[in-house]
Amino acid sequence: MSKKDNLIEIEAKIDEACRKAGRNRNEVHLVAVTKTIDVEGIKELYDLGIRDFGENRVDVFLEKYEALKDYSDIRWHFIGSLQTRKVKEILTKVDYIHSLDRESLAKEIEKRAEQPVRCFLQLNISGEESKHGFTKESATEFLKRADFKQIEIVGLMTMAPITEDETYLHHIFHDLKEAQEELAALRLNRVTANELSMGMTNDYMIAVEEGATFIRVGRALVND
Ligand SMILES: *Cc1c(COP(=O)(O)O)cnc(C)c1O
Repeated sequence: MSKKDNLIEIEAKIDEACRKAGRNRNEVHLVAVTKTIDVEGIKELYDLGIRDFGENRVDVFLEKYEALKDYSDIRWHFIGSLQTRKVKEILTKVDYIHSLDRESLAKEIEKRAEQPVRCFLQLNISGEESKHGFTKESATEFLKRADFKQIEIVGLMTMAPITEDETYLHHIFHDLKEAQEELAALRLNRVTANELSMGMTNDYMIAVEEGATFIRVGRALVND
């Protein structure tokens, strides 16, 4: 299928999930994950109305960013594991970092940033060892003493395990939503935490039902 057809299908599924959960479609932002989409493909999606794009590798991101400099209303989302030494290369170029997964990274962002940086704190809800991120407890503990000057924690992010078990996925996303609400209620300095970045090709409908405000979808956009 063309990207246009894929997008129509994704939009229909987002609508359906919103209807099911009684949510407003405007609350859900579709981030097109471009790790398998080249610059031409991104332009195609742009022409179809997409403005949010997500990359998970610094070098590839920088190439695409340069190539698409004239598209000034694109919002770039950095979603991948970020090495501390690469922070300075992307800081002024990304609109959101979804993968703030450890204290040392926060420290480096604080050190380098000269303007506010919107970040999602990444939580490892499933507890899988292969996954990055804070536990719910360590996240709260960290944010209470963080004292950020530039980082703004706009929300929480997680990556669900790869599974067909929908009940389990509901559970994971529900847990992140609960963590987000608890965190927002603390009203910590520079921690608004209103957003939820969760849901990928396999599970974005479930994530939307559970309250996702940013879904990160790659493969579903490029399926033939
Ligand atoms: C690749 C990736 C996605 C998109 O995954 P798809 O299964 O292609 O939709 C979302 N988030 C992160 C962090 C990723 O690395």
